[in-house]
Amino acid sequence: MSQDTQPLVSLPIIDNGGDGAMVDVEGPRAATSMRYRRAPLATPEEQFRVLNRVEISVGPTRTGSFEADLEAAGWPVLQPAQLDIFQINVGKLCNMTCRHCHVDSGPDRVDENMDRETVEACLRAIDLSGAKIVDLTGGAPELNPHFEYLVDACVQRGLHVMDRCNLTILTTRRYQHLPQWFAERGVEVICSLPHYRKLNTDAQRGKGTYEKSLEALRALNEAGYGKGDPRLQLTLVTNPVGAYLAGNQASLEAEWKAALARNHGVYFDKLLALNNMPMSRYLEWLEQKGQTAHYLSELVQAFNPGTIAGLMCRNTLSVSWDGYLYDCDFNQQLDMKMDLPAGLRPHVRDFDLTAWQQHIVRTERHCYGCTAGAGSGCGGAIA
Ligand code: SF4
Ligand code: SF4
Repeated sequence: MSQDTQPLVSLPIIDNGGDGAMVDVEGPRAATSMRYRRAPLATPEEQFRVLNRVEISVGPTRTGSFEADLEAAGWPVLQPAQLDIFQINVGKLCNMTCRHCHVDSGPDRVDENMDRETVEACLRAIDLSGAKIVDLTGGAPELNPHFEYLVDACVQRGLHVMDRCNLTILTTRRYQHLPQWFAERGVEVICSLPHYRKLNTDAQRGKGTYEKSLEALRALNEAGYGKGDPRLQLTLVTNPVGAYLAGNQASLEAEWKAALARNHGVYFDKLLALNNMPMSRYLEWLEQKGQTAHYLSELVQAFNPGTIAGLMCRNTLSVSWDGYLYDCDFNQQLDMKMDLPAGLRPHVRDFDLTAWQQHIVRTERHCYGCTAGAGSGCGGAIA
């Protein structure tokens, strides 16, 4: 059976902790996690080997070394600006297994979920950080047993909370209350939907994703999301279904709004168009299609110096499920821990704002995914 025709299957029973309840959620699958398959590319070392080995066409003005191209653009080092966003990846567990996932998430990753002690350490660090936005991601962050506790603790602190939601989780029985629950707390919901067409979305995220996504969007609309209320923002995230750069965000947003309203009576506020990062399962897909050199060349040739000041590693820090600190969620998945001065341990329990402000961001070739074209980050296009 090809991956495209895999049926919806039940997830393993997941111990949801806390109240001892058990969760049995279903999710569309386009693939299986690389870790589950013990694929060589599951390790950061192998991903770096592939990225650094590939022969790319750099064009007349670029080098193919991200550090050298940064320096030529007037940035001998990449340093943070102001810490605005405290991003927490609460775990790799997900009810889905999308083909492009840069986290290599899936239902088999039950053992990588943030515990309550680390959640409390995050809250202490947030208080010290001055960040006004808390960005919760995963996996499917809602599957973490401390998710609602963490959201409430942040809302009580007056912080703006963003939940990066895969939509399909909101259609499962245990999580159907979340649209209303989010609305009561003013949580911004940022939802991934590769395309407003069924074929493209299901190809990347698994058969059945599109219908479930529409069902979830309707539930969010019913809760008041997506209708222009600044307190109930519904943001969609699209990334190309193929080996090319994200299109123009503003024109895609207009096209998507019209198509989803016309075809399904579904509404949202904002669209973010992201580039796929050449890593993890997307890198595996590029390798399978023989497209790695082509895609890397495209990213390098599209290097845009105008995106550097706005890179998310300059205003965001990223915490992993086990509390380690990274410059961004991409570096996190490549196990590139934050390089702090004076040998300070890059862990949320030891968070120090001054050390964060003084540190130098770690970069590698995958970073070209953030600087290509209009640029790309968790907040969408940059330039
Ligand atoms: S892309 Fe998102 S929804 Fe898909 S497997 Fe990864 S974390 Fe889950
Ligand atoms: S991947 Fe992007 S956000 Fe992360 S360090 Fe590189 S340029 Fe910065």
